Amino acid sequence: MKRIDVETLVVGLGPVGAVTALYLARAGISVAGIEAGNREAVDLRASTFHPPTISILDALGVSKTLLSYGLKAPVYQYRDRKSGEVFSFDFSELKDQTPFPFRIQCEQDKVRQEVLDALEAETDAQLSYRSRLLFLDDRGDHVLAWVETGTEVVQYAARYVIGCDGANSVVRKLLDLSFEGFTYPEKYLCLSTDYPLEQAFDGLSNVNYISDPDEWLVLLRTPRLWRVMLPVSEDDDDEALLSDATKEGVFKRILGSDQPVQTRHRTIYRVHQRVCERFSKGRIAIAGDAAHLNSPMGGYGMNSGIHDGINIAEKIVSVLQGGETGDIMAHYDRQRRHVTQTFVQKQSIENMKSMRKGWDQDRADKRERMEILQNDPEARLQFLIGQSMLGSLKEAEAIA
Ligand SMILES: Cc1cc2nc3c(=O)[nH]c(=O)nc-3n(C[C@H](O)[C@H](O)[C@H](O)COP(=O)(O)OP(=O)(O)OC[C@H]3O[C@@H](n4cnc5c(N)ncnc54)[C@H](O)[C@@H]3O)c2cc1C
Repeated sequence: MKRIDVETLVVGLGPVGAVTALYLARAGISVAGIEAGNREAVDLRASTFHPPTISILDALGVSKTLLSYGLKAPVYQYRDRKSGEVFSFDFSELKDQTPFPFRIQCEQDKVRQEVLDALEAETDAQLSYRSRLLFLDDRGDHVLAWVETGTEVVQYAARYVIGCDGANSVVRKLLDLSFEGFTYPEKYLCLSTDYPLEQAFDGLSNVNYISDPDEWLVLLRTPRLWRVMLPVSEDDDDEALLSDATKEGVFKRILGSDQPVQTRHRTIYRVHQRVCERFSKGRIAIAGDAAHLNSPMGGYGMNSGIHDGINIAEKIVSVLQGGETGDIMAHYDRQRRHVTQTFVQKQSIENMKSMRKGWDQDRADKRERMEILQNDPEARLQFLIGQSMLGSLKEAEAIA
């Protein structure tokens, strides 16, 4: 059997694995990245990149797609569908906190492509696509991994393994770790269109959370398309949900008319709130969707996954090059699992709850809080530091 020796093996080259592997290779750590799928996979899930993630990608020299093609979105809005009331928040107020005081709206696969291009140019990186992890064996001072390629099984020997293999992570399963939490009962429909939705609402921003007890919506703009996300009944079958009749109904309710609207994509997904009981065991860590899942409300999933990946990669560099002797794997778990629970899970669950309520029903909790934030610049700054994920990144780093 062919054997490949590396310092770190990254399993899964989605956005989290690709960025993590690039950080390691740039630091001079030999890294192998294995990816079950193709290099060019289209993935329309994440569209929001928050300021600290833009900084990470910029420092790695892979922010071209975001900055030249992505759509800058400093302002985002909470809207009440029934009353039409709008509260706007502006990340420009973070100008003293970050060089990138805005979200960028861009498809995750486009950024991943740029990161993979950069990774392939690194001499310290060996990438293998259509290669699936089968089994891991932690031997104490190194880990053996068996990987199936199209033609053979290859054995990797690595000082550390990082599982970035997504929601159904084989690494997490092989570590026998429970993935605690829940799945929302309803399904979610995502429709993308080049119809100019900005013309249908007064002052619509590029990121809009529209509350309604009957049918809440998220309207997100990417460079070429608008995306509409909304909850749909779990009892309806997928074929009916993806039909023209459903699509026409959704846009009729949004636009208030029978205007014909073409869609480019229609997808259905489930939403989970889950956190793995541990983010590391022995010499093996997990990061991104392999370690935690949350609703897309707020755009935290991929962003926090990239923050995980950079955190564990920095620690591996500090051991392999800086002589650090502490238990970096346990430290990674303490730092990143803490903010996953205290910020990402808590905030995304709250965001889902408030989308389901109209503001009339939730006056005390939501509308009044919005008014306070509008009128109190210091409270608003702290709120924006949280929403932009600058706060959770810093909070994790401060944990000993
Ligand atoms: C509708 C929707 C909208 C979203 N919007 C946002 C947003 O705006 N902002 C945000 O931050 N997040 C968002 N998310 C979440 C975001 O898409 C995920 O958090 C992100 O893709 C996770 O990245 P990842 O690299 O951890 O996992 P993935 O992207 O799932 O990548 C995992 C990779 O591992 C590979 N793999 C799996 N098993 C193996 C194996 N055995 N061996 C080798 N490779 C393997 C897979 O092929 C895959 O390429 C959204 C999610 C949804 C559903």
